Amino acid sequence: MAYYKYPAYLNPKDHPAFDAIAEPGSLTQNSGIYRCVTCGYECTSIEGAPLPPQYHHQHPADRQGPVRWRLVVCSAHHAH
Ligand SMILES: [Zn+2]
Repeated sequence: MAYYKYPAYLNPKDHPAFDAIAEPGSLTQNSGIYRCVTCGYECTSIEGAPLPPQYHHQHPADRQGPVRWRLVVCSAHHAH
C-alpha cells in the first residue's frame, strides 16, 4: 500500500485510468504510483516512459503470475 501523511494533498477521483491493467514494459499513460496486481509491489513511473518489465521483480511462491501494473496514485500536473 502507498503511504501518505496529509490527506489534504490527495483527492479521490472516479476515473477509468484507475481501472486499466497495463502490461509490463508498456508506455506509462499517467505519471504516478503503480501497483503490481499480482503481488502488490509498487513503483513510480513517468508518462511516456515504459513501465517496469516482466523481470522487474520476483513473485513469491504463493503469488505466482505475470507482472501487471495498475495506477493507484496519479500526479496532477496542474495547479490547484
Ligand atoms: Zn508483482
